[in-house]
Amino acid sequence: MPSTPAARTPRAALAELLAGNRRFVSGQPVHGHDVTAAAAVASGDQQPYAVVLGCIDSRVPLEAIFDQTFGSICVIRTGAHVLDRAVCGSIEYVVGQLGVRLVMVLGHERCGAVGSAVDALRTGRRPGGALAYVVDRIVPAVAEVGVDDPAAHPLAVRRHVRRTVAALRADDLLAAPVAAGEVAVVGALYDLATGEVTLLPEGETRNRPPG
Ligand SMILES: [Zn+2]
Repeated sequence: MPSTPAARTPRAALAELLAGNRRFVSGQPVHGHDVTAAAAVASGDQQPYAVVLGCIDSRVPLEAIFDQTFGSICVIRTGAHVLDRAVCGSIEYVVGQLGVRLVMVLGHERCGAVGSAVDALRTGRRPGGALAYVVDRIVPAVAEVGVDDPAAHPLAVRRHVRRTVAALRADDLLAAPVAAGEVAVVGALYDLATGEVTLLPEGETRNRPPG
């Protein structure tokens, strides 16, 4: 079941996405990924109801953890969900051209890309090649939480999600629909062991989660 009319608001889209994660966590997914599911949405235009920007980590396959089928969500994955113009342009397309109302940024614990940024700050050694581009975009989150904090890595994971959400909300073509409440950009974290996706609370200003 790809997009439903109910998922055409940000709130309903978020509810549908999180319901899919609950199905996954409970071991009761309803969507297989066989060729009949592909064929079912082959004709006509696609009607996804959400776009999820996540990490390349092989342990976080987005369609699986949200129990989504062909045609239901758009997925973008980069190391630690780092933004560049291609990513932003892709999200602008999904929102502006496909009418998607929900953008989720999904970080995860033990993220290797965030770990690389922590290491770069701690050692003063920046990686070479295009990996430097990725690391450079995570370093500000690490610097904000403090690289000397023993919990710098998990705190930076969280902070980096919040920074990515903020950047997307300020994106040239997303800022207006976000301000009008027509589109929501939310941040969330994935638990590798339980499979659970947890939303980051709005307005969280502390580095450490409550409690
Ligand atoms: Zn990662």
